[in-house]
Amino acid sequence: MQLYQNQELKIYNSLTGKKDIFNPINEGHIGMYVCGPTVYSNVHLGNVRTFMSFDMIFRYFKHLGYKVRYVRNITDAGHLENDADEGEDRIAKKARLEQIEPMEVVQMYTVDFHNTLNAFNFLPPSIEPTATGHIIEQIEIIKTILDKGFAYEINGSVYFDVLKYNETHNYGKLSGRNIEDLIHNTRALDGQSDKKNPQDFALWKKAEPQHIMRWPSPWSDGFPGWHLECTAMSTKYLGEQFDIHGGGMDLKFPHHECEIAQAEVSNGKSPVNVWMHANMLTLNGQKMAKSTGNYILPNDFFTGDSKHLSKPFSASVVRFFMLQAHYRSILDFSNDALLASEKGSNKLMEAINYLEKLPVGNTTDFDIEDWKNNCYNAMNDDFNTPILIAELFSAVKFINQVKDNKASVTKEDLEDLSATVHAFVFDVLGLQNIEPCNESPDKLSDTVEVLIKLRAEARANKDFALSDKIRDELLAVGIQLKDGKDGTSFSTN
Ligand SMILES: [Zn+2]
Repeated sequence: MQLYQNQELKIYNSLTGKKDIFNPINEGHIGMYVCGPTVYSNVHLGNVRTFMSFDMIFRYFKHLGYKVRYVRNITDAGHLENDADEGEDRIAKKARLEQIEPMEVVQMYTVDFHNTLNAFNFLPPSIEPTATGHIIEQIEIIKTILDKGFAYEINGSVYFDVLKYNETHNYGKLSGRNIEDLIHNTRALDGQSDKKNPQDFALWKKAEPQHIMRWPSPWSDGFPGWHLECTAMSTKYLGEQFDIHGGGMDLKFPHHECEIAQAEVSNGKSPVNVWMHANMLTLNGQKMAKSTGNYILPNDFFTGDSKHLSKPFSASVVRFFMLQAHYRSILDFSNDALLASEKGSNKLMEAINYLEKLPVGNTTDFDIEDWKNNCYNAMNDDFNTPILIAELFSAVKFINQVKDNKASVTKEDLEDLSATVHAFVFDVLGLQNIEPCNESPDKLSDTVEVLIKLRAEARANKDFALSDKIRDELLAVGIQLKDGKDGTSFSTN
């Protein structure tokens, strides 16, 4: 008997606009696809929040006993500078500016992405496929869509015919847009484009002579459109119909709308049962943007090296802070809010550390069954982590009462309480209780000093790959380097 058999889980579905009772297509199994990053720059905090939401959801499914196949792709080709199929490929542009190979760009930022997610204690997805690894599958889908008459070829490029599709399907059903408004609000084509209508989107683009990322196809040497890769990879690994498709709110239109159109034409059925979208985040009430200086990079938390932060914060505190907001709410970062989360997180971990030392008695002054139900009800109500955390603090209050001999707990109930707290805090929320280092402080600091010296030498030799690696790997084990006027110092989190 698995836990999920006793739980009624409701998930907000962007497609229906309400919380629906979740029933997977195959009992006990869940297929979940989440749009991954385009690896042309360091991962930004908004992405971290989106992926953290789906990490928490993945963890809860696993906790309930589901077998989950979680597919999160890496976009390493086809994502142009703007969503209107214009501009350069983001990765090719970065490669040109840096005078390196596109695959070097891909490698560098894929490694950065993984390092950052590891630091925040993410579970790896079950499959992490790349767009460039699935060119053949994408070409096959284009052939099918052409055969069915929903795409047209012009000058070596192939476009999806949105108006034709909308005659028999509903383009805009996910994002709530209707085609008349889209036509009305889209600027006219500037004569540069081959598209028949501005709403149409590229399935295949012919590469310009200077475009370095190109593959042969029946239409031209070129590259696939951005929306197509997710249809190809989700169909390949999860089937023509699967349970959950997730991503950031900004992907709802046009990206996810286009995915639905492609899949409905090529597979003849609606691809996804539940569409989930995580909300954005702000900093001090304002949109984060590099251009205005109102931004924090994920690594800035660990060094404290930002005008927006008074000190470093551990990854687990940042994680706790993010999960104190519901994934569909806008989350606002501020130094004060982080300081409050740090206090809360410390209080929670202190109580957990007391659990095994608590005295046991003959009675229990806490309704553990009722409390457990409240925890599950919170998560079953569209993954309401803020309510779950509030429930965890009811347990903290009780633990502290027992510690102060103001309440009593039996041995069995304490075991039950302890197992449930551990499951929700570590398995589901993915928080970490980082113990103080057991090594003698001198030995540790001598070792770190050696690494700091090696890093300084690497930097002097302009071997920034090595110096960054030393910094990131130390960070992954909870040691933060901080560069200052008087050299490099370190702190442990
Ligand atoms: Zn996608």
